[in-house]
Amino acid sequence: MNKFWMRIKIKARRFKLILASLLKGPRWTVCQLCKKRTFYYKEGALLRENKRCIRCGSIPRWRAMFDALETIAPNWQQLAIHESAPFGALSEKLAQKCRNYTPTHYFPDVEPGSMERGIRNENLEKQTFPDEQFDIVITQDVLEHVADPQSVFKEIARTLKPGGKHFFSIPRDPSKPTEPRVKFRGDEIVHLKPPEYHGNPYDPAGLLVITDWGDDICELILQWAGTKTEMSPFSDDHDVTETRPAVEVFISHKD
Ligand SMILES: [Zn+2]
Repeated sequence: MNKFWMRIKIKARRFKLILASLLKGPRWTVCQLCKKRTFYYKEGALLRENKRCIRCGSIPRWRAMFDALETIAPNWQQLAIHESAPFGALSEKLAQKCRNYTPTHYFPDVEPGSMERGIRNENLEKQTFPDEQFDIVITQDVLEHVADPQSVFKEIARTLKPGGKHFFSIPRDPSKPTEPRVKFRGDEIVHLKPPEYHGNPYDPAGLLVITDWGDDICELILQWAGTKTEMSPFSDDHDVTETRPAVEVFISHKD
């Protein structure tokens, strides 16, 4: 199926789901991201990807990220922000409203630091940015895909100004320690668990999940990069009890 028909199919499915929500009697609220009067409709079983805003299309983990950003860095529109692998309504808002927003994506076969398909190419493990360049770095569900998370956290800390912050969301299981899903033998990937892929806007094959993050994530980052990490308190006025465990936002602080 080509891209055009895929889009039509997704739109038709969304229309059906929104209509079903309307018929059931939706719970009206104000979206934390687009700030418009709206209701959220269910699109799938996975909570953090579910409950999409009918106005901006946002999902809970994007709204949680924006809530954390607005609370902790209310002057974000004036700050220098780097976002790796931007996608969706939050990234669009940052691109529109933040004066010094640098989005990047990683294309392994392209010269680091150059532009590719309208976006700067950066490998998070080996960035071409100078030290202390950004007030804020944002990664939304990116760090489960990086081959060498230790280098990534170090590099993010290097590019942050003193007092800078790394905001990130990540799928994790807080009942287990962090475990790699693959190991690298030279260029060869050895799968330790059945391969799992997440969506990638630039590659229909998707992105391989490299790490299953667990309860020790904050200690690992402190050990690797020397930055202290905490979880943001997030209040989703729509359905706190159901949504909260699924929409964790972490913030690493550089002293
Ligand atoms: Zn919205």
